[in-house]
Amino acid sequence: MDPEQALARIVHCLDRAHVGGFKTKAWSGALARVRQTDPAELARLAAKGDLKELPGIGDASAKVITEALAGGVPGYLEKLEAETVIPITPEGEVLRAALRGDCHSHSTWSDGGASIEAMATTARDLGHEYLVLTDHSPRLTIAHGLNRERLLTQLDEIAALNERLAQFRILTGMEVDILEDGALDLDDDLLARLDVVVASVHSKLRSERQKMTERMVLAVASPHVDILGHCTGRLIGKRPESVFDADYVFAACAQFDTAVEINCRPERLDPPLELLDAAIGHGCYFSIDTDAHATGQLEWQPHGCDRAADRGVPLERVINTWAMDDLLAWTATK
Ligand SMILES: [Zn+2]
Ligand SMILES: [Zn+2]
Repeated sequence: MDPEQALARIVHCLDRAHVGGFKTKAWSGALARVRQTDPAELARLAAKGDLKELPGIGDASAKVITEALAGGVPGYLEKLEAETVIPITPEGEVLRAALRGDCHSHSTWSDGGASIEAMATTARDLGHEYLVLTDHSPRLTIAHGLNRERLLTQLDEIAALNERLAQFRILTGMEVDILEDGALDLDDDLLARLDVVVASVHSKLRSERQKMTERMVLAVASPHVDILGHCTGRLIGKRPESVFDADYVFAACAQFDTAVEINCRPERLDPPLELLDAAIGHGCYFSIDTDAHATGQLEWQPHGCDRAADRGVPLERVINTWAMDDLLAWTATK
């Protein structure tokens, strides 16, 4: 393990523990500095005990770099690995073991923190067969949503990466905004071309019940939409659930074969359990997705697996347990 690998793994572990803030920024800064520094120069500074001359390197990161150069696993990383393992119940583990991929993820192309390649190789190393990349759509400017041209460029990059990654597949997709009138924030020809389309509400989350219900039903009825993302939009402790008629929305999901996402982000855990029960009652399909914005967050599926197992989501209704070809056949026909 070289210093760059050690620091990247530290950032990964902090991300999976959802640490964020100053601490993660500091380690990301150290990683960026090491990537910019010639390895021979790094070794020379380490030998002299002068690593802290480099901007962004402090006591802790200097120690990690020195220990990595000496050929061992740095003590700080070893401790962090153990402390940040994502727990899972035995019941949740059955579902987790059946998952073959993740249908909702972001990269630096929109508001994610890692490259497409870093997200893909992390998903591969977690045992996945595929990762659906679903960066944001144009009108979510705050998250650098992709317009038509940028999406087309991204599709070229994904095709090139897929050549190199061979067995593993990056599936194309987008997290498309559900606009106020229920229309989708992307041209029809592109929606048709993408492998998987997640549709989510990100604006006017406090709309009144009937308006929100109509908006969501229209979106999930679209033949292009495969998954309804984080349906209530809640941020636990920060933002309340949107109000809509769940029976109408989930009945529409069941009728139009749109999966209800079980969003695994710790601050979302959407849908809430009573709505999850309602969706199971309507016979919906589900997708257990991380909505990862960093490599470490790709490890969050246990959060959703535990909830799904707890409420008795039937395994065969979870679309990301299916063989990839079956999933693609299902998303292509609607
Ligand atoms: Zn979203
Ligand atoms: Zn998302």
